[in-house]
Amino acid sequence: MKRNLIAIATFALCLFALLLVVKPDSATPAALAATRRVRSCGTVHPSGKQADEIQNSYLKFKAARNAALSATGSITIPVYFHVINRGKGIQNGDVPDRMIRAQIKVLNEAYDGTTGGAATAFRFELAGITRTTNEAWYNMGFGSNDERAAKSALHQGGADALNFYTANLGGNLLGWATFPWSYHAKPELDGVVCLFSSLPGGTAVPYDEGDTGTHEVGHWLGLYHTFQGGCSTNNDYIDDTPAEFVPAFDCPVGRDTCTRYPGLDPITNFMDYTDDSCMFQFTADQAFRADGMFAQYRQ
Ligand SMILES: [Zn+2]
Repeated sequence: MKRNLIAIATFALCLFALLLVVKPDSATPAALAATRRVRSCGTVHPSGKQADEIQNSYLKFKAARNAALSATGSITIPVYFHVINRGKGIQNGDVPDRMIRAQIKVLNEAYDGTTGGAATAFRFELAGITRTTNEAWYNMGFGSNDERAAKSALHQGGADALNFYTANLGGNLLGWATFPWSYHAKPELDGVVCLFSSLPGGTAVPYDEGDTGTHEVGHWLGLYHTFQGGCSTNNDYIDDTPAEFVPAFDCPVGRDTCTRYPGLDPITNFMDYTDDSCMFQFTADQAFRADGMFAQYRQ
């Protein structure tokens, strides 16, 4: 009897040790964040009820429009870059023109399908660059007075123009964006904000290939995170991105956090949280939604 108890206790202990060693998932955000910066996007997703209202309005619009996807590459978005720095030189956030041109190229190759995803209707063209030295704006936090002041002073163009701000960003954020349905109420706050060192060739390794920009522009076009809604049927309101329970970090190939739903986690999607080298695609339904959202709110 005693021998049996010892055997059971030993087995239980081994099982416990095994559970400690073999984590069911990739490292947790908190554990990763202790060792390095992890992707963190400040974009505020609408609540369940508001998301439903936005979705119903979108579906109604789509039905009335009764149109297929706009032709690939048929919509060119003018991009106004606003470099907010605390002085001269890249170390002070004054990103050179060549990094801005490289960011535009990254956007075009992501949205035209060159990197391996669906080709969307969108192309991006540099329309202008402003450079502002302002230490408070440089360290702007999400939703801060500094953000409002900077954007109110610098914003250019209409609903169809992309204002792309670079700064140092508080709160360890890589970026944030406004959704298309927010434009009408606060046009001067519209746009995307990215950590200056996330531009291609920057120092925010492994987020140094410009995909923070690609991700934030995805929000600006009405796309949610792939893990929005967790394991649910609606999930991110996109039909061809499998449901995902929580964000994926690093590049956890084969991960499946919603086993009761079909498909592995969409870790290679631009709207997840993986490393830049891991994400390379939008899906056909994301291209479709972005096109519809643009027509509904930005044209
Ligand atoms: Zn995001």
